[in-house]
Amino acid sequence: MDTRLNATAVNFSHLHESLIELMEKNAELEIENQHLRERVTEITEKVGQNSPQLSKSRKNLEKLYNEGFHVCNEYYGKRRENDEDCIFCTDIIYGRRD
Ligand SMILES: [Zn+2]
Repeated sequence: MDTRLNATAVNFSHLHESLIELMEKNAELEIENQHLRERVTEITEKVGQNSPQLSKSRKNLEKLYNEGFHVCNEYYGKRRENDEDCIFCTDIIYGRRD
């Protein structure tokens, strides 16, 4: 009887340890999950900034560009000859930034 009780007590304490391990693991996963969610939100916001929805300053540059002026560093403020596309300008207006 005693040995059975002891065995049960040992089993119980093992079970208890496993339970604590599980709870610790669960807490770790929750924290990790939280971090991942924050990361996803961050990335989503970043991607949003590069989506067709242009920022206010880029919209101003786009407007200038569409009016026929360069907005690139190379030719800023100069007229675009024959409304030629300028890859430097389009890169500044629509290019991706990190
Ligand atoms: Zn240009």
